[in-house]
Order: sequence, then structure tokens, then C-alpha cells
Amino acid sequence: MIGKIDQEVDGRLSGDRIRPLVRPHLLDINPYVPGRPAAEVMREFGLTNVVKLASNENPAGPSPKAVAAITQMLPDLHLYPDGAAYDIRGAIARHTGLSSDHVFVGNGSDEVIKLIMETFLEPEDEVLTPFPSFMSYALSAAMVNATLVQVPLTADFQYNLDEVLAHITARTKLIVLCTPNNPTGTWLTHTAVDAFMSAVPADVIVVIDEAYLEYVDSPDVLDSLQFVRERRAVISLRTFSKMYGLAGLRLGYALADPAIIRFLHQVRLPFNVNAVAQVGCEAALADEAHVVRSRAMNAAGREQYYTGLTRLGIPYIPTQGNFLLARVGDGQAVFEALQRRGVIVRAGFAGLSPYIRISIGTQAQNESCLAALAALQSLSLF
Ligand SMILES: *Cc1c(COP(=O)(O)O)cnc(C)c1O
Repeated sequence: MIGKIDQEVDGRLSGDRIRPLVRPHLLDINPYVPGRPAAEVMREFGLTNVVKLASNENPAGPSPKAVAAITQMLPDLHLYPDGAAYDIRGAIARHTGLSSDHVFVGNGSDEVIKLIMETFLEPEDEVLTPFPSFMSYALSAAMVNATLVQVPLTADFQYNLDEVLAHITARTKLIVLCTPNNPTGTWLTHTAVDAFMSAVPADVIVVIDEAYLEYVDSPDVLDSLQFVRERRAVISLRTFSKMYGLAGLRLGYALADPAIIRFLHQVRLPFNVNAVAQVGCEAALADEAHVVRSRAMNAAGREQYYTGLTRLGIPYIPTQGNFLLARVGDGQAVFEALQRRGVIVRAGFAGLSPYIRISIGTQAQNESCLAALAALQSLSLF
């Protein structure tokens, strides 16, 4: 391979020469586009104050206990992390009432999603996902060249689990449910998932992405671990990136029967979770006060948006996450206009062009966002 590249006559490579070397199924993948960093938007528009409400980050910041534990371990950075992640898996096991053998950690749940697909999906296999939902499922499925079958949510973004069941074929290996669902904020009840689980064939694995679980305060809350304890083919995915305020550390985890977990180890890198993340997340897990504060801040922020958007006559989708969809007409145009006013939200989700997704921030950040929306409205921009 190196030899072939070296033979380029003029010593330069062109994309045309490299393209045929790439595995064909990778050519059409559009890489993930994250929310825009505040610093980038400040530079572009010459702003000094930017509110980023684009990536569902915790506006309360990380747990102070996590920060303290990380500071203490920094002199040990010359050491490799514990490849088995013994302590953090033990802490998660105690937190969830499962055993360490039920816990698999990854470099964010994004990595865990990819590893699950690499473990189970052959090119001809099908994975069912909701639509619209989190981009990672489609991306990871594309990377392993599996067939993505997107099952639409209802018009008001609710799950239709009968519809999901109806899409199961002999090729279906994985079903992904995301609840609360990103980017819609809609959620599944335990009763609904329980009935669904009884109808799913035994040889199909159900992945339940619960990145926003800690924010849920609705009745009949999903207890996905019941299915794990019942030894069903279920993988629950959780993360330290949202409620725990540690998105920059990168640690997400899977909870599942050890019979499933053991095969995920076949595809992971030896040190996939760094030492700082292992220490910081263990401390964060022990800081219940930070979770309680963050949950209360988010619950208040939700009400603030419900009230503020209602006053502006902007329809929204009730949410159980730390973000919500607002129907503004032309999502992309309003996204750009808000950005010029120093408020970064998200738009451009497939199937959601009339909407923007707003992450719930501090009271002051939410106020800025609502004020910017009001200003755009008074300029008749929507
Ligand atoms: C944010 C998010 C994740 C978390 O990703 P990490 O890689 O753990 O930061 C996973 N699933 C969904 C649906 C999300 O919105």
C-alpha cells in the first residue's frame, strides 16, 4: 500500500487516487456535525458574549467532587489507565444494583454504540432505529455496512412500538430505542416497553439508549434494568455526558447480561477509557447533591421555556430531557438569526426542518434565548 502511494510521479496525492482504496461502503458517510463551539461563533460574528444551548451539556458544570478527584490524580498521568476499569465498573455496579460483570465502559456512549454494532452486525443484517433520533445509530450502522431501517415516530413524535415490531424481519439483529428520544424529547413508559419486550423475538437484541434517564420525572418511568435482571437480550446505555456534566471526559456505559457484555470486550481497544475519566466519573457518581441540583435546575428551565414559548405563541414538544423542540417555521433560518444574536441552538435534523432544538441552560441563558426569539419575532423574521 505504501509502495503504491510512493510511486506517485509528482510526489503529490490526489483524492481520485485514494478514493478507490477506501472501503466502498464508507464513501457515502457524512461525518457527524457537532453543535458549534461558542469561541468559533464569537470569532465569526464579532460577539463577546455567546450562549451555547446546542449540545445538551449540563449548565451547572461538572460535579465539584469530580473536579477535585481529577486534580488529585493528575501527577499520575504517566501511568496507563486500568484497562479493566475495575473501580469505575464497581461503582456503576453498586449504583445500579448489578454486578461488575454487567457493566461495560466506553469512550462515551457513542463508542459503546459503535462497539455494539461492530460486535453484532454483519453487512446484510438490519438494525431498527426510531426516526427522527440520535445520529450515532445511523453513522455506526453505516460504518459496519449494516442496513439501517428507520421506523418513523408518529406525527407528534411518539413511539409506535407496534410499528417497530411490524418491521422485524429474519435479518433484524438489533433494535435501538432512545428514551427520552434525542432530538424530540419524547419518551416511553415502562408499561409500553414491557409489553413490547414480550413480543420481541428472543434472537433480537434491544438497545435502550437512556442518555437522559436522570432527567425523567414523569410517571411510569422506564426501568430497563428489570429486563436485564430477567436475563433478556437488552442493553441499557447510559452516560456521564449529560446529567453528570462530564461530556469532555468521555465516559458512557452499557448495562447488560454478562453473556452479552463479554462479547463487547472482543472489539474494544485495550485502554478505551482514559484514567482521568475513570477517576472523575467515580467521584461524580458519589455526588448525589450535584445530580439533585442539576435536575432541579433543568425542571425549572423546562417550565421557563413552556411559559416563555407559550407567551410567544411558539409551539413546542413537551420534553423529559434537558432540551426541547420549538416549532419556528424555518428552523435553519431561525438558527442562523439566533446565532448572529449570540445564541447557539441546533437545527437541520433530518425530518425536523420547521424546528430548532434548544438545550435547557441556566435561568439567565434561557432568558437570553427567549429574548432573542422575541426580538426575531418582532422583526417578523418568523
Ligand atoms: C448525548 C447522547 C449520548 C451520549 O454520548 P456520549 O458519547 O456518552 O457523550 C448518547 N445517546 C444520546 C441519545 C445522546 O443524546
